[in-house]
Amino acid sequence: MVALDWRLYEAGYCTHPERATRQGAPAQACEFPALVALLRHPTNGWILFDTGYSEHFLQATAALPERLYRMVTPVHLSPQASLAAQLRRDSIAPEDIAWIVVSHLHGDHIGGLADFPQARAACSREAWDDLQARSRLGALRIGLLPALLNQWKVTSPQWFEGLASAVLPAPLAAFGAGRDLFGDGSLLLVPLPGHAAGHYGALFDDGQGPVFLVADASWSSRAIRDNTPPPTLVTAWLGSTRAYRDTLSRLHALHRAAPQVRLVPSHCPEWRPGPQA
Ligand SMILES: [Zn+2]
Repeated sequence: MVALDWRLYEAGYCTHPERATRQGAPAQACEFPALVALLRHPTNGWILFDTGYSEHFLQATAALPERLYRMVTPVHLSPQASLAAQLRRDSIAPEDIAWIVVSHLHGDHIGGLADFPQARAACSREAWDDLQARSRLGALRIGLLPALLNQWKVTSPQWFEGLASAVLPAPLAAFGAGRDLFGDGSLLLVPLPGHAAGHYGALFDDGQGPVFLVADASWSSRAIRDNTPPPTLVTAWLGSTRAYRDTLSRLHALHRAAPQVRLVPSHCPEWRPGPQA
Protein backbone atom coordinates (compact mmCIF):
# COMPACT_ATOMS: atom_id res chain seq x y z
CA MET A 1 0.00 0.00 0.00
CA VAL A 2 1.26 3.45 -0.90
CA ALA A 3 0.35 5.85 1.92
CA LEU A 4 -0.04 9.58 1.29
CA ASP A 5 0.75 12.28 3.83
CA TRP A 6 -1.80 15.06 3.84
CA ARG A 7 -3.04 18.17 5.54
CA LEU A 8 -5.88 20.63 5.10
CA TYR A 9 -5.69 24.32 4.29
CA GLU A 10 -8.48 26.86 4.44
CA ALA A 11 -8.43 29.14 1.39
CA GLY A 12 -11.02 31.69 2.46
CA TYR A 13 -14.57 31.14 3.61
CA CYS A 14 -18.07 32.28 2.79
CA THR A 15 -21.10 32.98 4.91
CA HIS A 16 -24.47 31.50 4.11
CA PRO A 17 -27.63 30.56 6.02
CA GLU A 18 -26.99 27.17 7.57
CA ARG A 19 -30.51 26.14 6.67
CA ALA A 20 -29.60 26.27 2.97
CA THR A 21 -27.11 23.45 3.55
CA ARG A 22 -29.05 21.24 5.97
CA GLN A 23 -32.81 20.91 6.29
CA GLY A 24 -34.10 22.08 9.64
CA ALA A 25 -30.88 23.89 10.59
CA PRO A 26 -31.04 27.47 11.96
CA ALA A 27 -31.61 30.22 9.39
CA GLN A 28 -28.74 32.33 10.71
CA ALA A 29 -25.62 32.79 8.63
CA CYS A 30 -22.77 30.38 9.29
CA GLU A 31 -19.13 30.35 8.13
CA PHE A 32 -18.27 27.73 5.53
CA PRO A 33 -14.52 27.32 4.96
CA ALA A 34 -13.19 26.51 1.48
CA LEU A 35 -10.96 23.60 2.43
CA VAL A 36 -8.15 22.31 0.25
CA ALA A 37 -6.22 19.10 0.84
CA LEU A 38 -2.49 18.96 0.15
CA LEU A 39 -1.25 15.41 -0.38
CA ARG A 40 2.26 14.08 -0.80
CA HIS A 41 2.90 11.04 -2.98
CA PRO A 42 6.32 9.40 -2.51
CA THR A 43 7.20 9.56 -6.23
CA ASN A 44 4.55 11.78 -7.86
CA GLY A 45 5.11 14.69 -5.49
CA TRP A 46 2.71 17.29 -4.16
CA ILE A 47 -0.95 17.04 -5.09
CA LEU A 48 -3.77 19.48 -4.37
CA PHE A 49 -7.39 18.45 -4.05
CA ASP A 50 -9.17 21.65 -5.19
CA THR A 51 -7.87 25.20 -4.68
CA GLY A 52 -10.46 27.24 -2.76
CA TYR A 53 -11.02 30.98 -3.20
CA SER A 54 -8.29 33.26 -4.49
CA GLU A 55 -7.60 36.74 -5.81
CA HIS A 56 -8.68 35.41 -9.23
CA PHE A 57 -12.06 34.51 -7.79
CA LEU A 58 -12.44 38.01 -6.34
CA GLN A 59 -11.55 39.55 -9.71
CA ALA A 60 -13.89 37.25 -11.61
CA THR A 61 -16.78 38.25 -9.32
CA ALA A 62 -15.95 41.97 -8.98
CA ALA A 63 -18.61 43.20 -11.41
CA LEU A 64 -22.13 42.26 -12.32
CA PRO A 65 -23.46 39.85 -13.29
CA GLU A 66 -20.78 37.66 -11.66
CA ARG A 67 -20.94 39.75 -8.48
CA LEU A 68 -24.26 38.04 -7.78
CA TYR A 69 -22.22 34.98 -6.78
CA ARG A 70 -20.65 36.94 -3.93
CA MET A 71 -23.96 38.51 -2.98
CA VAL A 72 -25.44 35.05 -2.46
CA THR A 73 -22.38 33.71 -0.62
CA PRO A 74 -20.30 36.64 0.74
CA VAL A 75 -16.63 35.65 0.51
CA HIS A 76 -13.92 36.45 3.04
CA LEU A 77 -10.36 36.15 1.83
CA SER A 78 -7.36 38.19 2.90
CA PRO A 79 -4.32 38.29 0.57
CA GLN A 80 -2.38 36.21 3.13
CA ALA A 81 -5.11 33.56 3.14
CA SER A 82 -4.83 32.47 -0.49
CA LEU A 83 -3.67 28.91 -0.89
CA ALA A 84 -0.55 29.95 -2.81
CA ALA A 85 0.45 32.37 -0.03
CA GLN A 86 -0.09 29.77 2.68
CA LEU A 87 1.90 27.14 0.78
CA ARG A 88 4.75 29.61 0.32
CA ARG A 89 4.85 30.11 4.06
CA ASP A 90 5.21 26.32 4.35
CA SER A 91 8.14 26.43 1.86
CA ILE A 92 6.13 24.99 -1.03
CA ALA A 93 6.43 27.07 -4.20
CA PRO A 94 3.63 27.07 -6.80
CA GLU A 95 5.85 25.15 -9.22
CA ASP A 96 6.34 22.42 -6.62
CA ILE A 97 2.71 21.37 -7.07
CA ALA A 98 2.72 18.49 -9.55
CA TRP A 99 -1.00 17.73 -9.73
CA ILE A 100 -4.31 19.41 -8.98
CA VAL A 101 -7.27 17.08 -8.63
CA VAL A 102 -10.47 19.05 -9.27
CA SER A 103 -13.55 17.64 -7.56
CA HIS A 104 -15.89 19.77 -9.69
CA LEU A 105 -15.82 23.17 -11.37
CA HIS A 106 -17.66 25.46 -8.94
CA GLY A 107 -15.86 28.76 -8.47
CA ASP A 108 -14.91 28.07 -4.85
CA HIS A 109 -13.03 24.93 -5.90
CA ILE A 110 -11.15 26.18 -8.97
CA GLY A 111 -10.54 29.77 -7.78
CA GLY A 112 -6.83 29.16 -7.23
CA LEU A 113 -6.06 27.12 -10.36
CA ALA A 114 -4.34 30.01 -12.12
CA ASP A 115 -1.83 30.29 -9.24
CA PHE A 116 -0.37 26.92 -10.20
CA PRO A 117 0.18 27.15 -13.97
CA GLN A 118 2.74 24.35 -14.05
CA ALA A 119 0.61 21.79 -12.27
CA ARG A 120 -1.04 19.01 -14.20
CA ALA A 121 -4.78 19.03 -13.65
CA ALA A 122 -7.09 16.07 -13.40
CA CYS A 123 -10.83 16.50 -13.62
CA SER A 124 -13.98 14.99 -14.97
CA ARG A 125 -14.65 15.39 -18.67
CA GLU A 126 -18.35 15.39 -17.88
CA ALA A 127 -17.88 18.49 -15.69
CA TRP A 128 -15.69 20.20 -18.28
CA ASP A 129 -18.07 19.56 -21.20
CA ASP A 130 -21.03 20.69 -19.11
CA LEU A 131 -19.38 24.02 -18.38
CA GLN A 132 -18.29 24.58 -22.00
CA ALA A 133 -21.87 24.05 -23.18
CA ARG A 134 -23.28 26.79 -20.94
CA SER A 135 -23.72 30.47 -21.60
CA ARG A 136 -22.07 32.97 -19.24
CA LEU A 137 -25.33 33.48 -17.34
CA GLY A 138 -26.30 29.83 -17.58
CA ALA A 139 -23.00 28.94 -15.95
CA LEU A 140 -23.19 31.68 -13.31
CA ARG A 141 -26.68 30.60 -12.32
CA ILE A 142 -25.28 27.35 -10.93
CA GLY A 143 -22.00 28.64 -9.47
CA LEU A 144 -19.72 28.22 -12.48
CA LEU A 145 -17.29 30.98 -13.47
CA PRO A 146 -15.86 30.16 -16.91
CA ALA A 147 -13.43 33.11 -16.58
CA LEU A 148 -11.50 31.14 -13.96
CA LEU A 149 -10.80 28.40 -16.47
CA ASN A 150 -10.01 30.87 -19.24
CA GLN A 151 -7.27 32.47 -17.11
CA TRP A 152 -5.74 29.11 -16.55
CA LYS A 153 -3.18 28.15 -19.16
CA VAL A 154 -4.11 24.54 -19.44
CA THR A 155 -3.80 22.50 -22.58
CA SER A 156 -5.52 19.31 -21.63
CA PRO A 157 -6.43 17.98 -18.21
CA GLN A 158 -6.13 14.34 -17.38
CA TRP A 159 -9.75 13.24 -17.61
CA PHE A 160 -10.91 11.03 -14.78
CA GLU A 161 -12.90 9.03 -17.30
CA GLY A 162 -9.68 8.16 -19.16
CA LEU A 163 -8.02 6.59 -16.11
CA ALA A 164 -7.97 2.89 -15.34
CA SER A 165 -11.00 1.66 -13.45
CA ALA A 166 -10.33 0.47 -9.91
CA VAL A 167 -12.27 -1.71 -7.51
CA LEU A 168 -13.01 0.27 -4.35
CA PRO A 169 -12.40 -1.23 -0.89
CA ALA A 170 -15.31 -3.29 0.45
CA PRO A 171 -16.91 -0.57 2.64
CA LEU A 172 -17.21 1.62 -0.45
CA ALA A 173 -18.69 -1.01 -2.77
CA ALA A 174 -21.96 0.97 -2.99
CA PHE A 175 -20.10 3.77 -4.79
CA GLY A 176 -19.33 1.60 -7.83
CA ALA A 177 -15.90 1.71 -9.45
CA GLY A 178 -13.22 4.30 -8.84
CA ARG A 179 -10.53 5.71 -11.12
CA ASP A 180 -6.89 5.18 -10.29
CA LEU A 181 -4.94 8.42 -10.83
CA PHE A 182 -1.42 7.02 -10.58
CA GLY A 183 -2.05 3.35 -11.37
CA ASP A 184 -0.78 2.27 -7.96
CA GLY A 185 -4.02 2.42 -6.00
CA SER A 186 -2.77 5.31 -3.87
CA LEU A 187 -5.36 7.87 -4.97
CA LEU A 188 -8.76 6.77 -6.23
CA LEU A 189 -11.33 9.15 -7.69
CA VAL A 190 -14.86 8.21 -6.69
CA PRO A 191 -18.00 9.48 -8.46
CA LEU A 192 -20.36 11.27 -6.06
CA PRO A 193 -23.23 12.36 -8.32
CA GLY A 194 -25.90 14.92 -7.53
CA HIS A 195 -24.22 18.15 -6.42
CA ALA A 196 -22.89 19.18 -9.84
CA ALA A 197 -21.98 17.63 -13.18
CA GLY A 198 -19.00 15.30 -12.95
CA HIS A 199 -18.61 15.66 -9.17
CA TYR A 200 -15.97 13.34 -7.64
CA GLY A 201 -14.38 12.60 -4.29
CA ALA A 202 -10.92 11.20 -3.62
CA LEU A 203 -9.97 8.20 -1.51
CA PHE A 204 -6.51 7.46 -0.11
CA ASP A 205 -4.82 5.95 2.92
CA ASP A 206 -2.46 7.99 5.08
CA GLY A 207 -0.99 5.01 6.91
CA GLN A 208 -3.52 5.31 9.73
CA GLY A 209 -6.53 4.32 7.68
CA PRO A 210 -8.69 5.52 4.78
CA VAL A 211 -9.45 9.18 4.14
CA PHE A 212 -12.33 10.02 1.81
CA LEU A 213 -12.44 13.63 0.60
CA VAL A 214 -16.11 13.95 -0.34
CA ALA A 215 -16.01 17.53 -1.70
CA ASP A 216 -19.55 18.97 -1.83
CA ALA A 217 -21.47 15.69 -1.53
CA SER A 218 -22.29 17.12 1.91
CA TRP A 219 -21.70 20.57 3.37
CA SER A 220 -20.88 19.18 6.77
CA SER A 221 -19.95 16.02 8.66
CA ARG A 222 -23.09 16.53 10.71
CA ALA A 223 -25.29 16.24 7.62
CA ILE A 224 -23.61 12.88 6.87
CA ARG A 225 -24.08 11.65 10.43
CA ASP A 226 -27.74 12.70 10.40
CA ASN A 227 -28.36 11.91 6.72
CA THR A 228 -29.93 15.35 6.38
CA PRO A 229 -29.78 16.86 2.90
CA PRO A 230 -30.11 20.53 2.00
CA PRO A 231 -33.58 21.78 1.05
CA THR A 232 -34.85 20.47 -2.28
CA LEU A 233 -34.72 23.97 -3.75
CA VAL A 234 -30.93 24.08 -3.29
CA THR A 235 -30.07 20.65 -4.64
CA ALA A 236 -32.50 20.95 -7.54
CA TRP A 237 -31.03 24.35 -8.39
CA LEU A 238 -27.46 23.09 -8.48
CA GLY A 239 -27.83 19.54 -9.71
CA SER A 240 -30.08 16.55 -9.10
CA THR A 241 -31.94 16.19 -5.81
CA ARG A 242 -32.51 12.46 -6.28
CA ALA A 243 -28.86 11.73 -7.06
CA TYR A 244 -27.66 14.05 -4.26
CA ARG A 245 -29.82 12.30 -1.68
CA ASP A 246 -28.79 8.88 -2.93
CA THR A 247 -25.10 9.84 -2.60
CA LEU A 248 -25.65 11.34 0.86
CA SER A 249 -27.47 8.17 1.99
CA ARG A 250 -24.54 6.05 0.83
CA LEU A 251 -22.12 8.30 2.76
CA HIS A 252 -24.35 8.01 5.82
CA ALA A 253 -24.36 4.20 5.49
CA LEU A 254 -20.58 4.22 5.06
CA HIS A 255 -20.17 6.34 8.19
CA ARG A 256 -22.30 3.87 10.17
CA ALA A 257 -20.72 0.70 8.78
CA ALA A 258 -17.09 1.84 8.66
CA PRO A 259 -16.50 4.75 11.06
CA GLN A 260 -12.75 4.29 10.60
CA VAL A 261 -13.10 5.89 7.14
CA ARG A 262 -12.63 9.62 7.70
CA LEU A 263 -15.13 11.55 5.57
CA VAL A 264 -14.01 15.10 4.81
CA PRO A 265 -16.51 17.54 3.21
CA SER A 266 -14.94 20.59 1.56
CA HIS A 267 -16.87 23.14 3.59
CA CYS A 268 -17.26 21.43 6.97
CA PRO A 269 -16.59 23.72 9.96
CA GLU A 270 -15.52 20.65 12.00
CA TRP A 271 -12.53 20.10 9.67
CA ARG A 272 -11.26 23.69 9.78
CA PRO A 273 -7.51 23.59 10.38
CA GLY A 274 -6.39 25.45 13.48
CA PRO A 275 -4.11 28.48 13.39
CA GLN A 276 -0.69 27.64 12.03
CA ALA A 277 2.16 27.36 14.48
ZN1 LIG B 1 -19.82 22.88 -5.24
